[in-house]
Amino acid sequence: MFLLWNIASVVEKTIFEKIISREIPANIVFENDIAVIIRDINPQAPVHVLIIPKRRIDRIEAAQDGDVELLGKLLIMARDFAKSHNLTGFRLVINNGKQAGETAPHLHIHLLSDRLMGWPPG
Ligand code: 5GP
Repeated sequence: MFLLWNIASVVEKTIFEKIISREIPANIVFENDIAVIIRDINPQAPVHVLIIPKRRIDRIEAAQDGDVELLGKLLIMARDFAKSHNLTGFRLVINNGKQAGETAPHLHIHLLSDRLMGWPPG
């Protein structure tokens, strides 16, 4: 039973895979061959988008050494999004694990902007 549950959690699509395959709607603001950028459904800042690789990596701790190029490209996409939207101050966040606030088990980078941000983060 435990094995079946484990297999199901691997086979079952994540919310972001369903968005990428257009099974569920989202406000997709940019897409290329490796990733999409969508508006967060529950924005925590006037600008709050998620940069999501099309190939599922559960979270940053599950990334492989071979993912270095993909991970770099995601940051470059964040840079380009900020530049094209004239965002000079912005914050990039990756939540890894429940304790850090991860709710969606498919790696994504939050880009937040257009409000004053506190430090340390909550
Ligand atoms: P995490 O908590 O894993 O770091 O971030 C997951 C993010 O995905 C949250 O900010 C949440 O609001 C967002 N999110 C969850 N479900 C959906 C959805 O169906 N559509 C969109 N656009 N964002 C979602």
